[in-house]
Amino acid sequence: MIRLRGVVKRFREAGRDRPVLDGLDLEVPPGEMVAVVGPSGSGKSTLLYLVGGLDADFEGEARVAGHDLRALSERERAAFRNREVGFVFQAFNLLPQLTALENACLPGWFEGGGARPRSALLDAGREALARVGLGDRAGDRPGQLSGGQRQRVAIARALFAGPRLLLADEPTGNLDTATGEGIIQLFAELARGGMTVLVVTHEERVSQAAARVLRLEGGRLR
Ligand code: ADP
Ligand code: MG
Repeated sequence: MIRLRGVVKRFREAGRDRPVLDGLDLEVPPGEMVAVVGPSGSGKSTLLYLVGGLDADFEGEARVAGHDLRALSERERAAFRNREVGFVFQAFNLLPQLTALENACLPGWFEGGGARPRSALLDAGREALARVGLGDRAGDRPGQLSGGQRQRVAIARALFAGPRLLLADEPTGNLDTATGEGIIQLFAELARGGMTVLVVTHEERVSQAAARVLRLEGGRLR
């Protein structure tokens, strides 16, 4: 599902190019959950944005879900992101005035082309909420939910469009240990159901449920 070869990503710093990813290789087959750990500033978010098609300004080979990311136009990359990738972040980024179901359905309001009718969007949202174990909280607003439940709503939103790949950036950063472990277990469960999951974090404890834990060091994975 993910195949990176010799990826180099540089940022300009004080007039000089500094490689943050420096000849990085990564291979993740479909349905595997991989955790990437590394200290703050090691390039974890940079790696995730690159895999998710948010940044195409890099060197090397990157194939994700059958697409050569560097060969895609801006427009094709946007379509790739919408169809193939679900993003989960440390901050849940839910809209407080919307219900869990409405939050989960948010990507649906931005669907282009032959947009689905509202009832179909709501059905898809309900299904996504059920997948994260919140089928019975559809009508609750974020303020009525715990931190772990809010992150589950955010994961439901990431699942809404039926992506084959979930990318999570420090998804347990705002949660206590036990709640964070529940979120990691949920990712593992989704992977058992065929989802490919890439989680990046500076927390070592994410490692327990992942099939593989890689360390990002010196711009490469070990
Ligand atoms: P992590 O997620 O592991 O904390 P990041 O991927 O956010 O690390 O950042 C890795 C390095 O790249 C840091 O040194 C950061 O300052 C630098 N960096 C990230 N984004 C940019 C940017 N847009 N411009 C310049 N430097 C950046
Ligand atoms: Mg980061």
